[in-house]
This record gives sequence, structure tokens and C-alpha cells, in this order.
Amino acid sequence: MSVLLETKQLNKTYVLGKQNELNVLKDVDLKIMRGEFVSVMGPSGSGKSTLLYNICGMDKMSEGSVLFNEKELSRLSEKELSALRLNEMGFIFQQIHLLKNLSILDNIILSGYLAHNRRRGTAKKKVANKKVVEKRAVKLMEKTGIAELAGNDISQASGGQLQRVGICRALINQPDIIFGDEPTGALNSKSSDEIMELLAGVNRGGTTVMLVTHDVKVAAKTERVLFMMDGRIVAEKHMGKYPGNSDNGDNESRRHGSQNGESIKAREERLSSWLLELGF
Ligand code: ADP
Ligand code: MG
Repeated sequence: MSVLLETKQLNKTYVLGKQNELNVLKDVDLKIMRGEFVSVMGPSGSGKSTLLYNICGMDKMSEGSVLFNEKELSRLSEKELSALRLNEMGFIFQQIHLLKNLSILDNIILSGYLAHNRRRGTAKKKVANKKVVEKRAVKLMEKTGIAELAGNDISQASGGQLQRVGICRALINQPDIIFGDEPTGALNSKSSDEIMELLAGVNRGGTTVMLVTHDVKVAAKTERVLFMMDGRIVAEKHMGKYPGNSDNGDNESRRHGSQNGESIKAREERLSSWLLELGF
């Protein structure tokens, strides 16, 4: 397995006043391997979202380095950074922002079109043409169970469906990683489970996934859980790959979401007792 993302001594400081600085990230060293499914937990205000926004280049780090796909983020121009985010990263948030006057399908393919137009003339990555992008979008909508919503506008979709739209949109340019900040935070537990099953499937398909969550049920489906406190990653737990709980699973263990006989409940308990030890 090779390294997809690495931070070294990553620091983020907010200057609040002349003599008032807030050190939100403190010397964070983090490595994410290609194909991993990582979650970040920790108390509110510990710096989870800040970490996410600094490693994806949405926010500017104060000190240290973030290497993504062998590129140092702080050395990229704004243009290079936004191209990198568009082509190599996908994002899902608690609430998805969509354009009201576009259909759901068009919302999904929009960033695909953008990537297509920007990449024209560059031979870096294979350029997907519009037909390919559209086909990809339809396939993603089928996979996430929202194919019938393609022509609808967004007011006709539920919260769970909108989050599926978000996953499709995040995947449209076949990114190397998907970042999520509490992507299931606004959903009921059934929709949350469904979204996590989808993300676990996306990860099994090879895409790296990194989520911030406060929900044990969410983190229990990830492979490695990082625990943040006061701007530092203070502990991590290797859970092992979650085998999924899909109805079309091809064997017993898959159908029951278990690995070596371990149920999802047992995974959650394993994680909970670790968090308890950490005083969370
Ligand atoms: P978490 O996601 O773990 O709840 P955050 O990363 O959102 O935590 O925030 C970590 C700390 O940084 C908090 O104390 C928060 O108030 C502070 N913070 C976040 N963004 C800003 C900002 N733009 N300016 C000043 N302080 C901020
Ligand atoms: Mg947060």
C-alpha cells in the first residue's frame, strides 16, 4: 500500500487579536494510505473539522506540510489547488449545496463538466468527455439507489436521498479520496446506516475515504479511527476492514456485516470501550 496523504508537523493557528492566538492544530503527523477508510473522532472543538479543511487545501495551514499525491499543497497556486480538489478529491458535508434551477442529474454532472473543460489541453489525466461524464453519473445514481430522481429538482428529494446525490457528485471525477465532515450528521439512523453502507462500498471499490464523525455507529464501519484532543491526534484504533452488510452480499458473513464472525454490534462495542478508556 502506498501513501496517499501525509502531514508533517501540521499547525493551524488563528490570530484572534494582537496577543491572542488560538492553536487549533498542533504538530499533527498523519499518514493515510491509498484505499484506507479512516474516521476522526474527538470532543467538539478538538480540531477535527480544521484538520480536514487543512489537509484538503480548503483552508491554509500555518506551518508544516501536507503532501497529497506527492504534491506539497502549500506550494500550489490557487489555480493548481482548485484543479487538484476538483480532479483528485471529493467532498461530502452534513448539508449538500445544490443549484436549485438544475435537475439532480445536472447537479451531479456539473463538476464533471468543469473538470472536462479545465483539463482540455492537458495530457495529465485521461480527459473524460461529456458523454462519459453523463454515463458515469447515471451509473452512480443507479448504484446509490436514486436513478429515478435524475430529472427531478432538488426540492423533491429527502435528506437521505440528497446525501446520496452528494456521494454521486463527490465521485463524478473519480477522485482518489472522499472527505466527509459529519456526512450523516443530519440524517436519521436508518438513512445514516444506508449512507455508511454506500461509503463502505465505495471504499471497497478502491477509493480512500476519510470522515469526521461523533457517531460510534459511523466510525465502527471505518477501518481506522483517529482520536483528536486539543488539536492533536492522541490515539488511533485499527478496526480492520468492515466487510459490509449489503443485501446482495454473496456470502453469509457479508450478509451479517461480520468478519471472522464479528457482528457490527461487536465492532461498535470494541470501539466504544476504547473510547471509554480514552475518557470520551
Ligand atoms: P471540531 O470539528 O472538532 O468540533 P473545529 O475544528 O471546528 O472543531 O474547531 C476547533 C477550534 O478552532 C475551536 O475552538 C473553534 O472555535 C476554533 N475555530 C475554528 N474555526 C475558527 C476560525 N475561523 N477562527 C477562529 N477560531 C476558529
Ligand atoms: Mg467539526
